[in-house]
Amino acid sequence: MNNRYSAIQTAYTCYYKYKLQYIDKLEVPEDSGDMAYGTGVHLAMQAHFEGDDPLVAFNIYWDSLKDKPLRYTRDNWESLKTKGDVFITRWLRLHSKYYRPLYVEQRIATTIQGFGIEGTPDFVGYYKDVLSIVDFKTSAQKYDKRKIISNEQMMIYAKMVKDVYDLDVKQLVYSVFVKQPEPSIQVITLELTQAKLNDMISNVGLMLKDLSTRTEFPKNRTGCQYCSFFEKCYQTNGESNE
Ligand code: SF4
Repeated sequence: MNNRYSAIQTAYTCYYKYKLQYIDKLEVPEDSGDMAYGTGVHLAMQAHFEGDDPLVAFNIYWDSLKDKPLRYTRDNWESLKTKGDVFITRWLRLHSKYYRPLYVEQRIATTIQGFGIEGTPDFVGYYKDVLSIVDFKTSAQKYDKRKIISNEQMMIYAKMVKDVYDLDVKQLVYSVFVKQPEPSIQVITLELTQAKLNDMISNVGLMLKDLSTRTEFPKNRTGCQYCSFFEKCYQTNGESNE
């Protein structure tokens, strides 16, 4: 069975959550408006690279969520719709010219130390003429560069791209759609070296080995208040929302 990086991330947040979600395969109710917004932006970018209108793609998706009971943090459905238009228009005007795609949203897989792993990079291609993997993000605030330096998922993608397409990725790129205080687009780049890649990939191998042999799944209780399994673990019968 191939793991996805999100499963590894979940395990090291809470082993019990990993068990519920990936071993017991319980359905995770998705009610985060912020997560849905990220999906909307990804759909817009994908539409652009496939020759369609990204504003139309975003608005069809976002309008379909108007009456859904989603949880929002700082924004709401209306403000995010307005910001979506601003983001996409600005990205088309100022940023799109730097991208030359080779593969967009293609699911690929490889092995790390004998363990299968799969993933779907947002964009593999040229950013400012450098062979890159690009991750499109939405965030309430600007990112710290340490976020991309420590991003194992993109390193895994770089290994997959080498193994599947025989391409040597030279750069990782975050394109961050920052929602607060006003919409802005932040780009962070990281030169990728073989030493960085080897270091990260060997650590991912250790985690995959740990998960494949693990028989106990303690509750790490990291971020319980945001967890979809809160009621299952604490059985407050809704009192926690009062
Ligand atoms: S509610 Fe807390 S303990 Fe329970 S699965 Fe989620 S993170 Fe783990």
